[in-house]
Amino acid sequence: MGVLISYDLVLVCLLFIVFIYMFITSEITSMHKVYFMFHMSMMLWPLCQFAIRMMESPSLQLFFVKAGFANLSLLVVGWLVFTMFLTGRTGYLQYKRSLLLLLPALLAAFTVMENPSGLFVSQVHNSFIQRSYGTLFWFVIVVLLGYLLVSLYLMVRTLVAEDTAPRLKKQVTLLFTGIAILSVFALSDVFFNVVMAGWLPVIPGLTSLGILLSDLCFIMTIYRYNAFNVVQIAHQDIIDTMELGILVLDEDETILEVNQALSPLCKLQVGEHFDMKTYVAQEHIITHCKKFLPIYQEAPERRVEFELTYLEGKLQHFMVHVMPIIVQGIRVGRIITLQDVTEFRRLVDETYLQNMSLHEQNQSLIVVQDELSQVNRKLEQMALTDSLTGCYNRHYLTQYLEQELMKNVKLQMPFAIFLIDIDFFKSVNDQYGHIVGDEVICGTMDAIKSTLRHGDVLARYGGEEFMVYVPNTGRTQAIALAERLKTIVATNQVLTDNNATSISVTISIGLLPIDDFANEYADIPKAYLNELFVSVDEALYQAKKEGRNRINTVVRKSTSPRLS
Ligand code: GH3
Ligand code: MG
Ligand code: MG
Repeated sequence: MGVLISYDLVLVCLLFIVFIYMFITSEITSMHKVYFMFHMSMMLWPLCQFAIRMMESPSLQLFFVKAGFANLSLLVVGWLVFTMFLTGRTGYLQYKRSLLLLLPALLAAFTVMENPSGLFVSQVHNSFIQRSYGTLFWFVIVVLLGYLLVSLYLMVRTLVAEDTAPRLKKQVTLLFTGIAILSVFALSDVFFNVVMAGWLPVIPGLTSLGILLSDLCFIMTIYRYNAFNVVQIAHQDIIDTMELGILVLDEDETILEVNQALSPLCKLQVGEHFDMKTYVAQEHIITHCKKFLPIYQEAPERRVEFELTYLEGKLQHFMVHVMPIIVQGIRVGRIITLQDVTEFRRLVDETYLQNMSLHEQNQSLIVVQDELSQVNRKLEQMALTDSLTGCYNRHYLTQYLEQELMKNVKLQMPFAIFLIDIDFFKSVNDQYGHIVGDEVICGTMDAIKSTLRHGDVLARYGGEEFMVYVPNTGRTQAIALAERLKTIVATNQVLTDNNATSISVTISIGLLPIDDFANEYADIPKAYLNELFVSVDEALYQAKKEGRNRINTVVRKSTSPRLS
């Protein structure tokens, strides 16, 4: 019999080893593996109790008594580690700390296995079916209870913590119940079958029943919360930790899913009926949903989106998207998402206001720019013209001629320069005063201007001196023009003093006609122009010297330096 039992035991052990091997190497989650290890370990206690009763040999009975308690010692460590994982206290499981954690259980298991001088357990009537426990038994019980109490304590702390996720709280509650049941049954076993052993009959299987009930709690946790479905847990975690509020409805608008992000906005429960009309009619929702509601109610297969504005203490904006869930062409429900766009709306409004003010600034800048360009035009005009007569000034004429004369010389285009000075002008000033003198200067210029062609340039050279540049004009034509100018000024009457006085003046003209380019070199425009001015000035001086009211024409011999 003993040999047969040993043979069967070896077979059971071999099968168990094969099972463990298959189990460890299989593609299942670590949570599955932990659970199955527990389950196996939990099965060992009733198995050992059964084996004790089946064995006849006291030494084999003792072996199963020891095996049962040693297994129980390691099982409670497993419970504690599992609790730590579940309640997120894996910090205790660092290398050194976990050794310390394991130490009491190892000590208990060692005590059980050694059973020194029968201080843990000893036989009664040559059998271990009825046994008497010694002092070390109580040490082992205290250690085991210690582990269970620490597990319970960690769970209580997790349950009372405010930041624990509701799903985790429910899991922990069930596990807590499981361990509490186990502890109560194990303690009852000790109380009834050990402490009260002398007075009461043996109540068998108390701890085994506790193990079964606690395992049932464990299994309920697993199935109710899908604790092993890692992908689903991950999905649920993602949905719960998302900032986007999600509401899933079936085709009758019953709530199938509602995530954490929605809870501050609406108190909705799975299984309730969701009425969008009542929801948007709440007093703190200040959006007009006249356009959105009819589409939502009458065209449930359409995707709709609209912005919802909440005013509950502070203003919040949400973008609501409604999407139908279509399965094989049939609408089976819809998903409603709420995205907080308060910050985005604030930025948009801010940008809009900034744009408006920029637009206004732009408008006023355009006005300023217009004013500036008008002022600029005036300034340009002022820089080019003479303030008294409105003709070009000497500065403009000099610049213009520097370009023009070079071109003329290069292309051999004849031109003429006139330097005109009013005769005896000092006496006009002396006789009529400076203001009348100014009027005479203007009247004389007007008379000269009226005689000139479109391309001719008249400029005030200084005081009562004027210069005329006549392009495309040969000597004969230039002399004829000078004669005309002299005559027109002489015959011109400048009316002043409210037309009461008329003044007439004459002019002397220095004339420089250039139509022979044999000796003209305009390589250095400034120097060439200067040379021409000197020539024409000399001619004017000569005209004055010869008696005034006359024209003196230069007979030109170029002195311009030749560069090339
Ligand atoms: P001449 O025949 O030799 O030219 O005799 P003139 O008296 O005209 O002598 P000159 O040309 O040298 O003198 C010019 C005078 O013109 C001197 C100055 O007082 C006067 N004059 C110069 N500019 C102005 C001006 O803008 N307005 C007035 N009213 N007089 C001016
Ligand atoms: Mg003069
Ligand atoms: Mg003069």
